Amino acid sequence: MFDWLIVGAGFSGSVLAERLARGSGKRVLLIDKRRHIGGNAYDHYNDDGLLVHAYGPHIFHTSSKEVFDYLSQFTAWRPYQHRVLASVDGQLVPIPINLDTINRLYNLRLTSFELEAFFAERAEKVERVRTSEDAIVSKVGRELYEKFFRSYTRKQWGLDPSELDASVTAPIPVRTSRDDRYFTDTYQSMPLHGYTRMFERMLDHPNIKIMLGVDFREVERDIPHDRVIYTGPVDAYFDFCYGKLPYRSLEFRFETKSVEVFQPAPVVNHPNEHPYTRVTEFKYLTGQEHPKTSLVYEYPRAEGDPCYPIPRPENVELYRKYEALAAATPNVHFVGRLATYRYYNMDQVVAQALTLHAKLTGLPAAPTAR
Ligand code: FAD
Ligand code: UDP
Repeated sequence: MFDWLIVGAGFSGSVLAERLARGSGKRVLLIDKRRHIGGNAYDHYNDDGLLVHAYGPHIFHTSSKEVFDYLSQFTAWRPYQHRVLASVDGQLVPIPINLDTINRLYNLRLTSFELEAFFAERAEKVERVRTSEDAIVSKVGRELYEKFFRSYTRKQWGLDPSELDASVTAPIPVRTSRDDRYFTDTYQSMPLHGYTRMFERMLDHPNIKIMLGVDFREVERDIPHDRVIYTGPVDAYFDFCYGKLPYRSLEFRFETKSVEVFQPAPVVNHPNEHPYTRVTEFKYLTGQEHPKTSLVYEYPRAEGDPCYPIPRPENVELYRKYEALAAATPNVHFVGRLATYRYYNMDQVVAQALTLHAKLTGLPAAPTAR
C-alpha cells in the first residue's frame, strides 16, 4: 500500500516524491511512461561519451534562493552564464539585442545613450501591449522585430507573434548596455554531474519505489494507493473531454562532429533561415572536455510529445475548464508544466512542487535537513 502514487518523474513529480518520502515519511510510488527519470530535463552520455540533453538544451537559472538551496542538496554546481548569438543579415550577433548587436548590424558606433534614442525613434506606439508583436514593436520598432522575432516565432509556434501572448517573448529583454547574458537571474549554474545524476540522488530513499515504462492508465487500478499526484497533460487525464489542449512539439536532431569546438557560442539562433530554430553545442553547457563535440538542432512540430503549452487567450479559457475539473477531483493533485498548462521553467516547477508539498503537509515550504 502506497500513500502516494506520483505520475511523472520530471522535476515536479521527483521533488514531490523526495519531499513526501524524506520530508514527511510517506511511502511513494513514482511512475513514468518513459524508460528514464528526469522528465524533459533527462541527460545521458551518447555513444561517443558526450553528455547530451535528450529533450533539448536545459539551462538552470533562478532568482529563488529557496529553490537553489533545495536542489543544492542533491548536486554540486558548475557556474555557467548562458550566451546566444543570432544569425541575422549574414552576421552572428548577440541576442538579447544589445549595444553590440545594433552597432555591428548597422555598422555604427553608438553609445548606450544614443542607442536609447535609436530605439525610441523606431518604437511604435501601442496602446495596450497584449501580444508578442506589440511587446517587441513597442520597444524596438518593426525592422528589428522582423529581423529577430517574427520568423523565429512563426517557425517555433506555427503562429504569428500577433496571435501569441506578450508573455511568450517576455523572457527576451532589449538592452542598451553590452551585457550579452541570456539570463540575469541571481543563480545561474548547471548541475556539475548532469541532471540525471541529480535526480538519482533526489530519489535515492527507501520510501521511494520507481516504476519506469508504464502508463498511469495501465496501473492505476492495480496498485493500492491513497492519493495521486499527476504531472502529465491535464487534458489526457480527463480523456480530452473538452477537446485537446494545444501543445507545440519539437523534433531533435543530434549530431556529433569530430572537432573540439564547432560554433562560437553555446547556442546559435536561426530566425530567418533553415527549418530549425537553433543549434546548441552541449560542451559549453556541460563543461566537458572531449576531442569531439555534440550538437542538437531543434525542429518545431505540430505533432509529437507535448513540449510547450501555447499561451493565447482561447487556450487559457479551455484550460480553465480542465482546471475546474481537476479542482473537483478528490485525492488527485495536479502539478507541473503539463498538468497546469503553464510555460514554466524548471525553477518555477520546483517552486510549484515545494508549495504544493507545504500545502499538503502544513510543513514550511523551505526544507531544512536531509
Ligand atoms: P516533465 O519534465 O515533462 O515531466 C512529466 C513526466 O510525466 C514526463 O516524463 C512524462 O513521460 C510523464 N507522464 C506524462 N503522462 C504520463 C502518464 N500517463 N503515465 C506515466 N507518465 C506520464 N526550463 C529551464 O528552466 N531552462 C531551460 O533551458 C529549459 N529549456 C527547455 C527546452 C525545451 C526544448 C523544453 C521543451 C523545455 C525547456 N524547459 C527549460 C522547461 C522544462 O523542461 C520544464 O520546466 C520541466 O521539465 C517541467 O517539469 P515537469 O515535471 O512539470 O514536466
Ligand atoms: N524568440 C525569437 N527570436 C529569438 C529568440 C526568441 O523570436 O532569437 C521568441 C520566440 O517566440 C521564442 C520566445 O522568444 O519562443 C522565447 O524564447 P526562449 O529562447 O526563451 O525560448 P525557449 O527556450 O523557451 O524555447
